[in-house]
Amino acid sequence: MDENPPAWLAQSRANRTGKRPVWTTLECIICGQTEAARPKKWWPEFTYVYCQHHDPGELPELPAGWVRSEYDGIGTRFIGIVDVALPGS
Ligand SMILES: [Zn+2]
Repeated sequence: MDENPPAWLAQSRANRTGKRPVWTTLECIICGQTEAARPKKWWPEFTYVYCQHHDPGELPELPAGWVRSEYDGIGTRFIGIVDVALPGS
């Protein structure tokens, strides 16, 4: 008896375990520069990203009662921003 799985079954198993790269497009909120990047596990859901050479003063103003977090090292040259409304605001 042949113990090898049929070719189609081996193939579908390989597809299930093989990780396919998932790409996302980072786009600077200030100048519109884009870069394709593979999202990292630690990346949160960014409100937006911007090139690290911009002055943070060029960013949209944070509404009162909101908290902003910055994440360096997004892609090759971006900083990620997460703006979150505080509960009760
Ligand atoms: Zn930019």
